[in-house]
Amino acid sequence: MEQLWFDPSEYLCGGRWSRAAQTLTLEDPSTAEPLARIARCGPPEVDAAVAAARAALQGDWGRMSAAERGRCLSRLGTLVEARIEALAHIEARDVGKPLTQARADARALARYMEFYGGAADKVTGETIPYLDGYTVYTLREPHGVTGHIVPWNYPMQIIGRSVGAALAMGNACVLKPAEEACLTALAFARLAEEAGLPPGALNVVPGTGAEAGAHLSAHPGVDHISFTGSVATGQRIQAAAAGNITPVTLELGGKSPQLVFADADLDAALPFLVNAGIQNAGQTCSAASRILVERSVYPEVRARMAEAYTALSVGPALSDLSLGPVISERQKSVIDGFLAQAQPENIVAHGQFAPNLPGGHYVRPTLLEGIAPDTPLAQQEIFGPVQILLPFEGEAEAVAIANGTRYGLVAGVWTANGSRQMRLAKTLRAGQVFLNNYGAGGGVELPFGGIGHSGHGREKGFEALYGFSVLKTVAALHGI
Ligand code: NAD
Repeated sequence: MEQLWFDPSEYLCGGRWSRAAQTLTLEDPSTAEPLARIARCGPPEVDAAVAAARAALQGDWGRMSAAERGRCLSRLGTLVEARIEALAHIEARDVGKPLTQARADARALARYMEFYGGAADKVTGETIPYLDGYTVYTLREPHGVTGHIVPWNYPMQIIGRSVGAALAMGNACVLKPAEEACLTALAFARLAEEAGLPPGALNVVPGTGAEAGAHLSAHPGVDHISFTGSVATGQRIQAAAAGNITPVTLELGGKSPQLVFADADLDAALPFLVNAGIQNAGQTCSAASRILVERSVYPEVRARMAEAYTALSVGPALSDLSLGPVISERQKSVIDGFLAQAQPENIVAHGQFAPNLPGGHYVRPTLLEGIAPDTPLAQQEIFGPVQILLPFEGEAEAVAIANGTRYGLVAGVWTANGSRQMRLAKTLRAGQVFLNNYGAGGGVELPFGGIGHSGHGREKGFEALYGFSVLKTVAALHGI
């Protein structure tokens, strides 16, 4: 691989880069060829990383003022900004996402550092009026050592939002990237050193979930865990953390709907309807995998989405088409398994494969209809480029279908009726409701998280700084 400024087979612990005793092979999803060898960290490396993080809290990192921490993160943002093209190429190869999308992720990483760099010294406590003779105030303190277990679908975005906020609040981080894609985590850690982050403030331990991830989530030396990924793994992590009463933030994906009413501006809606389903080959926690359409406009929405699907092309990440491959053969077979549940008459439209595809993990984007809302296809997260059209008659039925899954991450609403917008913003069960848009461009300022099986806790925005801190109440009795 070209353009690497780090050795991908090393892990970072306490400011030292080392080789682990064992390695794993990363695959290029566009070709299914080996891409790099990475460290396979296990319990000894995780233990050392947690100890190094603890030592950093007692050393230079713990002594830094909030303003100095902020300056470090701002410098890191500038270094990321200068490497956007290189980071985008690395992410495109590692994850299989088209270059344009990888560039957006790199820009978001820079922006997270800028935002959290600026916010680091803006978090304050409050004074609380109380009984005569008392002065009561609150302090916001870091948890201490924070564990960050991140997935392969948006490594830069998820590292930016969780590690960025945790560092801003003065925590020392142990980052366990996904075994399928971890190169930008290592690249980022090298840039963090260059930005002047003291040794041990950020430690990176690539490895498998069963070894490094499970050990980190059950570690008594970890004070908070942030996890993004599947419901099943989230349940394991929360159970493991419960042994130490460690607080956990979980972001677990969804089955998010977009609701299209008859009075919607379809020209404005259409790109959002399709893009939110196929971006990153559908491997997005907030993917709009269900498109609910009022019956009177169903034929038009169906026809226009079908046309858009037919124009989609799938190819290697670096050829920068509408979609790249999915991450692995395993992920492809999960998606194929879901598609096998559809009948030929359920298929509205497909995208196209580019000619001469190499041997990667390619899936044709597929638009489905005629799927009952209570079946697995309409209930479970597919994590692939598959969207389902579901007709509805009136607002009550739309809400019943939209809220009828165990998830609650995102909902989009398309209507010109302002009263309806306000009603649905309240009645839809979701951590985020987007009115006449979907995703709001993913701004770093917007708090993000789920309810129900989509998880709990909020990351992104200023809210994340509260999540990565502990509130301490101080009550002084004086005047006696
Ligand atoms: P996963 O949840 O198993 O993996 C995510 C991260 O958790 C990785 O770093 C992994 O190493 C780690 N991990 C795995 N098992 C662990 C354990 N027992 N303890 C601690 N850490 C552990 O996800 P996956 O297997 O890569 O993908 C499976 C499904 O998860 C996908 O099909 C998709 O539905 C969902 N997913 C969701 C998101 C999201 O953004 N919400 C991201 C990735 C995957």
